[in-house]
This record gives sequence, structure tokens and C-alpha cells, in this order.
Amino acid sequence: MYLRIDRLQIELPQPKEADPNAAAAVQELLGGRFGEMSTLMNYTYQSFNFRGRDKLRPYYDLIANIATEELGHIELVATTINLLLSGSTQPASPEDAPLKVVKDVRNVHHFINTGQAALVGNAMGGHWNGDYVFSSGNLILDLLHNFFLEVGARMAKLRVYEMTDNPVAREMVGYLLVRGGVHALAYAKALETLTGVEIPKLLPVPKIDNSKFPEARKYEQMGFHRKLYRYSPEDYKEIAKIWNGPSPDGSGDLEVVDGPPEGGPVPNLPEVPEVFAPEYDPAEIAEIAARLMKG
Ligand code: MN
Ligand code: MN
Repeated sequence: MYLRIDRLQIELPQPKEADPNAAAAVQELLGGRFGEMSTLMNYTYQSFNFRGRDKLRPYYDLIANIATEELGHIELVATTINLLLSGSTQPASPEDAPLKVVKDVRNVHHFINTGQAALVGNAMGGHWNGDYVFSSGNLILDLLHNFFLEVGARMAKLRVYEMTDNPVAREMVGYLLVRGGVHALAYAKALETLTGVEIPKLLPVPKIDNSKFPEARKYEQMGFHRKLYRYSPEDYKEIAKIWNGPSPDGSGDLEVVDGPPEGGPVPNLPEVPEVFAPEYDPAEIAEIAARLMKG
């Protein structure tokens, strides 16, 4: 089962202006084949489907624990999209066509099917789907797949970084580049313990250091690339049997942190009356809510 904390894994900057086409590009990192929905659901189902858990506990713990971190990653990417979409339109009477300004943006689903918010789909509006989940039941094959998925996800992040210089998007991408690096290394180390093959030597793929990206460098300077957070009050402790030893960049030892990162607040998304979110007259339902909170 899950507990939930109403915070994001990092603090996102306040957007200076709306950027709906950047939001569309960032969708790839949420609902594309190599997006956070895919990492989340791959590791989640692999943990549900794991056979021989009692004998292979460190591997089960690793997959289950990383799955839980990925749940916080979809939250972070969805919030980034929501911040980039906020302010795309201005309130006006329906007859003045307040949505005309977004008629030609890349993904009009943001403006027709949601209240200017994240979709479970990719950069071109295609839906995420369960075919992206690989759960063969063979531990080595699943771990090899997870390594491939993390480096595939890294490629997508690097390209989205090159596509937008929006500071909200880049802050999120910088952090996730670092966390993806942790996951790729963790799966590589897991494979190394099982087979003896030195898979960590392949990293990074593609061969460019995270330190080239200022937003990622900041998180590495804080040591995030050496830390595997244990997302449970009491469980998943055997991740420490895989996540240990020196960090490949020589900056210190790998470390399991008991509990989540401190993180940052979940931003309060502004109301968008012109798409009736949460209503055409938000003051009216805020009044009802205020009565409820008094009672
Ligand atoms: Mn992730
Ligand atoms: Mn990951």
C-alpha cells in the first residue's frame, strides 16, 4: 500500500509566462514511451509480479522502492506541465472567444479536454498505453530492460532540454536527469551482482555528463546523484545491499537515505474561469467551500 505526502520532490520556480508549446514537448517526459508513466508502471508491475521474493529480497526491494520514487516523478512532470500552461489564456466572456489564442498551439487537448492541465500522453498527443510495460518475470531480463528504459528516458530528457530553455521545464529536467542517473546505475549494479558483467562502465548513455547542465549540476553538488531515498517508514531496507560503494564520479560513497527528500510545496494552480476550471464563477464555489471549512 501507499502513503502520500503533499509535497513535490523539489521546489519548482514560478513561471514568468505561459509556454503551451513547451508544455506539449514536456508531455513526452510524462506519457511518452520513455516517460515517467512508463518507468512508474514498469517497476510497479514488476514488483507486483515478482516471484521468489524471499530469496531475492534486495532486487525486489530495489524495484519496488524505485517504483515509488517514480510516482513522485509523474507528479513533478505533471505539475511542470500545469505551470507552463497557466496563463495561456485570459478570462473573457465566451462570445469574445477567449480560447482563440490557443487554437493553433501544438496540443489543443490541453485546452479542450482538460482545464489547461497535464494529459497522460506524449508530445504529439498520443495516449500512454500499457504496451509500454515490460514484465517478463525473468529477473535479469527485467533489470536489463529497466536499464535500457532509464537510458532511453535520459535521451528524451536531454532532447527536451535542448528544445526548451523555459526555466520551469529545465529545473524539472535537471533534477530528473540526476535521479535517472541514480536509477540507471542502481539497475546496472543489480545486474553486475547477478552476472558479473560490469554494466556500470557503459554509463552515461549518451556519453555526456550531467554536470554539463547547470540545473543538474546544482543537484549533483548537493549529492543527489549518490543518494537512493528509501520511500517507506520500515520497508525496502535491503536496497543497501545493492546501493553501496564509491560513486563512479569519485565524489563520495553511494548512500541510502531513510525517507524522502525534503522537497518543495505543491503550487496552487490559478483558476481558469474561461474554461470553467473549477467553475465559470470561481468566487461562488470558494464561498461554499469557506462555509464548509467553518463548520
Ligand atoms: Mn523517473
Ligand atoms: Mn527512473
